[in-house]
Amino acid sequence: MQVIIFTDLDGSLLNHEDYSFAEATPSLDRIKQFGIPLIITTSKTRREVELLQWEMGIREPVIVENGGGIFFPRGYRNLLIENKEQKDDYTVIAIGTTYSRVRDFLEKISVQFDIKGFGDMAPAEIAELTGLSIERAALAKEREFTEPFIMERPDDIGLLSDLAAGEGLKVTRGGRFHHLMGKEQDKGVAIRIVRDIFRINFGEELTTIGLGDSENDLAMLEQVDIPVLIPRSVKGYLDIRLPGLVRAREPGCRGWNEAVERLLNEYGKVTAKGS
Ligand SMILES: [Mg+2]
Repeated sequence: MQVIIFTDLDGSLLNHEDYSFAEATPSLDRIKQFGIPLIITTSKTRREVELLQWEMGIREPVIVENGGGIFFPRGYRNLLIENKEQKDDYTVIAIGTTYSRVRDFLEKISVQFDIKGFGDMAPAEIAELTGLSIERAALAKEREFTEPFIMERPDDIGLLSDLAAGEGLKVTRGGRFHHLMGKEQDKGVAIRIVRDIFRINFGEELTTIGLGDSENDLAMLEQVDIPVLIPRSVKGYLDIRLPGLVRAREPGCRGWNEAVERLLNEYGKVTAKGS
């Protein structure tokens, strides 16, 4: 049996406050040792994830910008992949719309709603809002599909969402920001595509595990066989009900480590949903 793990970053594999994954190292090491694909599924950009993967010592497919795009390292496990394009060292499946289209809409409505996206901010300002270093904030600005933004009047979000829908866009909420993106994309859509690619290529029963902490992870948690909810440090567990939901006991990378360890210990007993 093949296990694939999908994971959110901020508030899940990375601590919400300091972005550390240090306490997840024991489980990360086991994942590497077992050769389990660990598919980072995040609102972060490809460039941010590249740096994190390098720090973690992994080279795996990634789902970036809330399901906007899937990037397989070129030649990864000799997988046969359809409907793709080649970009840099990647085989890419683009699901979301283009960043320029998202920015055009945001610029058009920015005065009415008093909102500000990453494209309007210098790296120092993003660093200030997020606690990221300036270098990492610069990588967060290198966007391909989606735009995180802040708004002065959060009550306007309903109206803004309606206007976005009229333009084929949508708004979701992450841990720190709202995100504007093409309406066809979400983490769940991307996960289905990745899962099917593995299924076609491996031709065996796959068990998928997904770990996340906030609303924009819901589509991911609904798609996997074993959804794992990580509590948020202040707000606690997201209020959701899903069959077979596993709850990590602590926030951030410490909870991530413990939950993954628990599941890997049950590895032999893990069975697909509905079987
Ligand atoms: Mg998160």
